[in-house]
Amino acid sequence: MKPNKFFSGFVILLSFALSFGCKTEQERAVESITAKDLKVHLDVIASDEFLGRNTPSPELKIASRYIATLAESYGLKPLMPDGSYFQEIPLVVDTLERAHTRMRLITGNRIQNFTFPDDLGIYGRYAQDMKMAGRVIFVGLGFSSPESGWDDLEGLDLKGKVVVMLDPELPEDHRLRTPEIQRLLYRRSRDIGSRGAAAILIVVSKKREINFSENGYFFDDTPRCRLADELKSLSTSASQQTYLRAEIRHAMAAEILGIPLTELEEMFAELRDGKQVPWRELNDRRMDISLVTQQRKDKTYNVVAWIEGTDEELKKEYVLFGSHHDHLGYREGRIYNGADDNGSGTVAMLELAQALQFHRPKRSVIFVWHAAEEKGLWGSRFFVEHSPVPVEKMSAELNMDMICRNDPDHLYLIASNKLSSDLDTIINAVNDKHIHLNLDYEYEDPQHPDNFFFRSDQYPYIQYGIPAVWFFCGTTEDYHQETDTIDRVDFAKMERVTRFVYLTAMVIGNKPKMLELNMHPDITMRGQHNLKVKWQ
Ligand SMILES: [Zn+2]
Repeated sequence: MKPNKFFSGFVILLSFALSFGCKTEQERAVESITAKDLKVHLDVIASDEFLGRNTPSPELKIASRYIATLAESYGLKPLMPDGSYFQEIPLVVDTLERAHTRMRLITGNRIQNFTFPDDLGIYGRYAQDMKMAGRVIFVGLGFSSPESGWDDLEGLDLKGKVVVMLDPELPEDHRLRTPEIQRLLYRRSRDIGSRGAAAILIVVSKKREINFSENGYFFDDTPRCRLADELKSLSTSASQQTYLRAEIRHAMAAEILGIPLTELEEMFAELRDGKQVPWRELNDRRMDISLVTQQRKDKTYNVVAWIEGTDEELKKEYVLFGSHHDHLGYREGRIYNGADDNGSGTVAMLELAQALQFHRPKRSVIFVWHAAEEKGLWGSRFFVEHSPVPVEKMSAELNMDMICRNDPDHLYLIASNKLSSDLDTIINAVNDKHIHLNLDYEYEDPQHPDNFFFRSDQYPYIQYGIPAVWFFCGTTEDYHQETDTIDRVDFAKMERVTRFVYLTAMVIGNKPKMLELNMHPDITMRGQHNLKVKWQ
């Protein structure tokens, strides 16, 4: 007998309809957030073609366009009053003029010219033209930490000098490779600068020298940018850098020091053996340095969208989702894909937008894909200072930055209990009921030496008295490296964290009142007056 196709088909359909019908709208929303969809989006955002999403770059603008287009397709409305999904942040871009940027070595009557970006690269920012000259001093590793028994600078007068030092590429088991000393090593230029040096020239590691010579790469010549207008939430205490920092190739270093290349190699070998390389003063040698810049205007964009709440009154208040979609760009042949940082949070928000189509809360929900986080949280600072909706109406901000690595059952929460106990209570209740991650508060202390409290986009919201939390899976050995790529992503964990954020937002969005500001004695109202509060 032939099976009755119509009948079996009907049964399947019926059981499907029943099982579908049994699910709440919220369950359907949660289940719409899938590892598979997250991967589809991240395949685009973290691809090599985006060249690391530097600020500003055409690739970052295309990423912004991709996000806005999908946000629209998921039913989110533009947040800007002119009907745009893009909040424009004006920038000034400083480009080094190659023809006039150079270093000269003057030895008696002899002058040697070195050029950018072939022989040397400029480190850090250059906001204006610079001219400096000084006698050369070589200081080995240039590290001064008498308490660790290592001092390359003891008794040296660095005032007005051009200081040459070696890159600290040290072997794994080197005595200076403790996390504590690594932190001090990162600061060695600042220490030398504070002793009055005019310029610091760092001789690149052997590994980089080989990369340059074998692959024909030059130093990074990507133009630098800065904000066109100062922001109130930016700390003005940052000390003005008066010295120049540059990196130099081995041939240039050998010329400056007046030694053969082999001797320079020996110096690096000594460092690798754990030995100090002694300083030497080169009073007969002067460096004459000039940097010439050109300025132009540019802009970057926060992508901003929203979906209206379901309650007539509560929809005038907001829950916010935030992430940053910029990263570090590319240099010397390396693309910094930033799959975890922060492709992960970026695409999580696309899934959140899709989930809200199934079920959304009483309050309205705002989505901000921040720009220029890697430059110093510019996008989030700009957003709170130029928000198209009143910050007083923002109940909370949920920040996602790096949410797809490390132990699958482990998640850091940063700042969940700093302004409102409600936020932390809600997160824990959601976790206990649905998610069952091990929540870790190790990094939430503003005094923690790694400073995570200040290092992502939740912080400007906190400065404005808006309870905000950073969902964070922690750093890995790939943090800010070219190896932060999609093949290392744990999509199951990302799905879990994204569902966690969705459910948390639903509770905050449906709560009869906005989250209460009850944790910090000085922050009892939302608004920019809280900027005065010091966290350190
Ligand atoms: Zn990040």
